[in-house]
Amino acid sequence: MLSASSVGAVSTASVQPSTSTSTRSDQPKTATGPAPPKCDKSNFQSPTIAELRAIGIGLKKSPGKLDLIVYCPMSGRCPHCNSMMISANSVGSRKLIYAIPWPKSLVGIDMRCGKCKKHWLTHDPKYVSTLPMSVQLQQTCISTKGNGTDLSLIRMLRSGVTVAQVERLVQEEVTQHYLHLKSEYITLWDKVTLCIMMMKMTMITSFLLILQ
Ligand SMILES: [Zn+2]
Repeated sequence: MLSASSVGAVSTASVQPSTSTSTRSDQPKTATGPAPPKCDKSNFQSPTIAELRAIGIGLKKSPGKLDLIVYCPMSGRCPHCNSMMISANSVGSRKLIYAIPWPKSLVGIDMRCGKCKKHWLTHDPKYVSTLPMSVQLQQTCISTKGNGTDLSLIRMLRSGVTVAQVERLVQEEVTQHYLHLKSEYITLWDKVTLCIMMMKMTMITSFLLILQ
């Protein structure tokens, strides 16, 4: 049987804290604390623009990949000139979203204005503000120029919970998530082992019957 620790090894490979100690002079002097995590982009899903159009707003799951938050509403206006002559151009770049119990990724559609020719993404806050309130409320995370954050984490911090308390909660949730996956893995592997044993027994029985 494979060791359960290998499950954790696969899971934690998705997001590794940066260990860079670069002291380049062009880095912002205001940066404090640990550097943001680097994410192996092979863990991101690669949807087509047709898939994003079909989903609109929702969550796309794919085995072995980070869950993908799709936020591609097309009913807004150009955030630059307020024109309604907008069209989908391409699949936007994906972002890492900090979430409980495991990070997700976010994707939007790169939109183009037929009037002023400018581009933006469907999860750009300026574009989102042009959408109906009911559509705005379907956003589950806040994206920035870098990574984004799930709204559940932001709400916790806004409610007065300290950063240290949120950190402990996240650690507990990650541990529970790991134990759940480990349990599922062991159960499935036991079933596979049983199937292999039964196939071997059947083959041996058939072979003996042929010999008789
Ligand atoms: Zn425009």
